Amino acid sequence: ASSDKKLGIALVGLGSYSTYQLAPALQDTQHCYLAGIVTGTPNKKQIWKEKYAIPEKNCYDYENFDSIKNNPDIDIVYVVLPNSMHADFCIRAAKAGKHVICEKPMAMNVEECDAILAACKKAKVKLGMGYRLHSEPYTQEIKRLIKEKTFGEVRYVNAEAAYYSGGNPNQWRLNKALSGGGALVNMGVYSIQSLIYGTGENPIAVCAQEYSTRPEYFKDTDETITAQFKFKSGAVGHMMTSHNINANKLHVNCSNGWFVLEPANNYGPLSGITSNGTKFNFPHESQQKLQMDDFAKHVLYNAPNLAPGEMGRRDMVIVEAIYRSIAKGGSWQV
Ligand code: NDP
Repeated sequence: ASSDKKLGIALVGLGSYSTYQLAPALQDTQHCYLAGIVTGTPNKKQIWKEKYAIPEKNCYDYENFDSIKNNPDIDIVYVVLPNSMHADFCIRAAKAGKHVICEKPMAMNVEECDAILAACKKAKVKLGMGYRLHSEPYTQEIKRLIKEKTFGEVRYVNAEAAYYSGGNPNQWRLNKALSGGGALVNMGVYSIQSLIYGTGENPIAVCAQEYSTRPEYFKDTDETITAQFKFKSGAVGHMMTSHNINANKLHVNCSNGWFVLEPANNYGPLSGITSNGTKFNFPHESQQKLQMDDFAKHVLYNAPNLAPGEMGRRDMVIVEAIYRSIAKGGSWQV
């Protein structure tokens, strides 16, 4: 492959994330570009076609989507739909022979994650998660400090990913049939991710609690969840996620010091400091740009897949264990 080859990405679902983050980022990517769209809203199709010079033949709706298999302009399908639609569209994309990026959370449950993984394996296509922070330099610095044991062994990690939700109570995120859950599947996935890259290992057990202060608003989905993670090394972790609190942090406590990212999981720039007083200082670039270029490099040049589908499945195993702990009490192995 020549180094100036750019892969064509089709965004599926032109909601706020596609509109305000992914499409603008795709104007700056070096290894991929916005080649097509899949939308159920005809007037969005007109607006996007004009704004991004997308040819009619690269525009699809949810019904004719499968014919994308005959379109050589599209190399990667990026699924940016409500969570209940992820599995269906990832599997259809794989069957169409396209590489797949799936937004978080991967699906509604582990069973659906397995179906996505199997479909991508069968079709021999690559699968990446929309976990943008793995391409982000402050997060990569955290991973480096842990890998190199710069501050010794990790003993305790605290991760918070939460925001106050007060908007339309009928939004899909608050509808369990469309979201699969509340704060946990939306923001909680970031704190699960933080606890794992903040220790460098997967948990072996979780114990969780749920809190509700506005049941009239959160009729169908969880509002605030805390959970404790146990790791094989002896490290322990605590996470908090919420649709009722604003919080955004990762604190890693080691045997010889600590480091913090705050904010830790928004679109950046992030901010970090260590117990030495050293402030992290990296140039800010669009996380989405870095993420999509990293995935394109994986497809083009077999560069590492920084957020593979298996990672999305792993997080869903933890999500299910957290909900099980809340429903039945006690600590659950993962
Ligand atoms: P939005 O509600 O803004 O957009 C979702 C889009 O999906 C809609 O605009 C619509 O697009 C399409 N859609 C199809 N069927 C439905 C339906 N029944 N109800 C609602 N929308 C429908 O959501 P977001 O863009 O915020 O989120 C989309 C996905 O991206 C989610 O999985 C979310 O978790 C993830 N996300 C990830 C982020 C990250 O940082 N990685 C940040 C934000 C979201 P159309 O009109 O084109 O058919």
